[in-house]
Amino acid sequence: MKINKGEKFDIIICGCGCAGFCAAVAAARLGMTAAVIDRYYAPGGILTVLGNNSIDQFNNPFIKGNKMIITGIGWEFVRRLQKDGFAVIPDMDAEYQNHAQYGVKANPVAAAKIMDDILIESRVKLYYGQPVVDVSLNGNEISGVIISTKSGLKELNAKIYIDCTGDGELAYFAGASCTAGDGRGTFQPGTLRFYPAKESQEKVCCFGDNMNHVKMDPTNSDSLTLSEIEARRMIYSQMANGESIMATAPASAPREGRRIAGLTEMNSEDYCSGKVFEDSVCYSFWFIDIHRDGEPAIIKYIKHDKTPTIRLSSMISKDLSNLMMAGRCVSSDRETNSALRVKASCMAMGQAAGTAAAICIKDSVPAKYFPIDKIKSVLDMSGAIVPGLSEIPSFTNSMK
Ligand SMILES: Cc1cc2nc3c(=O)[nH]c(=O)nc-3n(C[C@H](O)[C@H](O)[C@H](O)COP(=O)(O)OP(=O)(O)OC[C@H]3O[C@@H](n4cnc5c(N)ncnc54)[C@H](O)[C@@H]3O)c2cc1C
Repeated sequence: MKINKGEKFDIIICGCGCAGFCAAVAAARLGMTAAVIDRYYAPGGILTVLGNNSIDQFNNPFIKGNKMIITGIGWEFVRRLQKDGFAVIPDMDAEYQNHAQYGVKANPVAAAKIMDDILIESRVKLYYGQPVVDVSLNGNEISGVIISTKSGLKELNAKIYIDCTGDGELAYFAGASCTAGDGRGTFQPGTLRFYPAKESQEKVCCFGDNMNHVKMDPTNSDSLTLSEIEARRMIYSQMANGESIMATAPASAPREGRRIAGLTEMNSEDYCSGKVFEDSVCYSFWFIDIHRDGEPAIIKYIKHDKTPTIRLSSMISKDLSNLMMAGRCVSSDRETNSALRVKASCMAMGQAAGTAAAICIKDSVPAKYFPIDKIKSVLDMSGAIVPGLSEIPSFTNSMK
């Protein structure tokens, strides 16, 4: 099969959801030539294209003192949306009633446009609507990614590749070890977002409703085809019962896909007890939340006064020397993954992975020998909150 030769970059990020967006911006702002590839013609993934517009959680309401735990590029993005009236940021210091009260609600259409703006301002090369379909390998290194374009297949090359596809597609194509769902063929169900015909006129428009729970295996195209047919049948029967629905998202949003094996794997004991490691590069906050089909979700809460952290070594493949990952496909057990997958955590992981990749390239060191002190210090200087290093801003100061 003919594969056209394409451009060369320092860093290629596959997938432009919350994680890929922040990874690409972080890398480009550190002077790297960076490209981001997405199969859809818009950035944002589940947040925008698939219409799930709540971004949790930039704070930990249970710690003493300042409660912000994530800032950086993700926070900059929601602040820009808020300034234009397209995001509602709740009071992160407000007394706890439930976790959902702290979710930033964003207008998905505006969110994709502001992501475009920030990516373009940062000089990231955008490959929208061009899915990654394969990789070329040179020993235990990825030498190129093959994308499917309107004019045929094309190979793009980079020094480091970051898998932000959510489902670990790049890693899987490259033969890296992954675990899918519970490892025995069961996945958390997905959700199809749909839009009623008569909608509120609110500018932030937290409109839409969810068709819960769609049974799916997000790692299998035949299974996904059947899931989408079933989801449409469910929507159709609601319409036949009188509900007026004008559109749905283009596909159901998956809660879990593949988790890529990293140098270390995060586990729920460390996550829930807020253990800080030397290579903890960002915080995360959500409870263990495994959705199940026809049964209540499995829920476990974080120890009070503790904030979980995410390790850089869980964002570096154990199998391929120049593969990193961020977002919901990072190396973690299933319970931990059900917590760290929330959007603000994916943004923080993306910024950390993009920053680490850039510094490894600048210092000419393989990803597995990452210079942790330098990476943490650059993250801190770029406005991200690094466990054990950064001064945590108050909610009010973070708004400045
Ligand atoms: C139903 C549902 C409800 C949720 N509710 C909340 C909530 O209320 N609050 C919250 O914070 N989080 C919530 N989450 C979790 C959160 O939305 C996701 O875990 C998070 O958005 C994942 O971000 P990501 O960047 O890792 O992946 P994604 O957003 O999935 O982005 C991955 C990107 O990779 C692209 N991609 C995939 N394969 C390829 C390929 N082969 N080539 C090119 N591009 C590719 C996709 O198009 C996509 O843009 C929810 C998730 C679901 C499914």
